[in-house]
Amino acid sequence: MTEPKPPFLPFALPDIGDEEIAEVVDTLRSGWVTTGPKAKRFEADFAAFLGDPSLHCIAVNSATAGLHLALEALGIGPGDEVITTTHTFTATAEVVRYLGADVKLVDIDPATMNIDPAAVEAAIGPRTKAIVPVHYAGLAADMGALEALAGEYNLKLVEDAAHALPTTYANRLVGTLHSDATVFSFYANKTITTGEGGMLVTRSDALAARAKVMRLHGISRDAFDRFSATVPSWYYEIVAPGYKYNLTDIAAALGLHQLKKAHAFRTRRAEIAAAYDRAFAGLPLITPPHPQGADQHAWHLYVLRLADHAPIGRDALIEALFAQGIGCSVHYIPLHLQPYWRDRYGLQAHDFPHSQHAYGQMLSLPLYTRMTDADVQRVADAVVRLVS
Ligand SMILES: *Cc1c(COP(=O)(O)O)cnc(C)c1O
Repeated sequence: MTEPKPPFLPFALPDIGDEEIAEVVDTLRSGWVTTGPKAKRFEADFAAFLGDPSLHCIAVNSATAGLHLALEALGIGPGDEVITTTHTFTATAEVVRYLGADVKLVDIDPATMNIDPAAVEAAIGPRTKAIVPVHYAGLAADMGALEALAGEYNLKLVEDAAHALPTTYANRLVGTLHSDATVFSFYANKTITTGEGGMLVTRSDALAARAKVMRLHGISRDAFDRFSATVPSWYYEIVAPGYKYNLTDIAAALGLHQLKKAHAFRTRRAEIAAAYDRAFAGLPLITPPHPQGADQHAWHLYVLRLADHAPIGRDALIEALFAQGIGCSVHYIPLHLQPYWRDRYGLQAHDFPHSQHAYGQMLSLPLYTRMTDADVQRVADAVVRLVS
């Protein structure tokens, strides 16, 4: 008799509870479904979560939108160059092109998989205006070195924190560091989700003011202020050709409750990562780097790398896991291999040896709060069997 096939274990699943569902229903019944009181509350709660009510938190409909708004507000435009990591999702870099500026991709530090500050420094030229690090997988980039470079060369610093809620660096939450802006993502597979959504965080009054105007059509006041004012207030002014990047209250309703669970979610993700680490010790595998000291990894991703002498290749491993009903992914196909970026800048794989090598050996295992201990064990056992 054959065993029944176990159900498919997807690579990622959101963890949405009854509180989120009730809050969305409440929003639907309230009559205010676009940006309104719940988006405002989500922004205030986010500042409180980061522990600094003086931070500006600007809710947007994606992290991509938030990155675009941040760079626009910093004045990035044609003729400028922005340095970022090749080992990221295209959103990090594409926003630079929206603004007509150019992207300078650099390699990673193979130990951390984060942007290599030495490669950043080597790439700085007369047109360089900003650096955009990514806190890859939820491990903070070397912000001390990047802040020093930004200071020395008078560059802007915008953190792509799509993986980094909650991550700490030098015992401070990402979002409260010394960059010009930090952008979080609430896409479906991120550590907290609003379906689609993001948050732009900044200490700069000027950046916040510009981003708020550009978030909604270049209108000098937002729609909620207009419609909820106690004085008759139909008048508004368009001061720029803005975008449509506001977060709806339906999405913010999810975010209000997801944010309350963010620390508990992280604790569970860290438990799963630790279980994987234990299972893979002593095998021809490179387990993910951990933060230094007492710092926190958000564990958005568990990126496993095969050692050079592993008995199976990455593609075969992913196929074998899939055949056993386990979904995996790869983060990322480096940008220097993607036709648009490769062709536009004439990029070659040997210019990015660490990202290129890591790409060939890496896979991301399922890691999410709805996994049971048995699910985690099932994935770990399958990997162990295949690489032993
Ligand atoms: C998910 C992601 C983004 C884009 O986030 P959206 O909210 O989907 O726009 C940007 N950068 C990185 C590194 C990401 O993983």
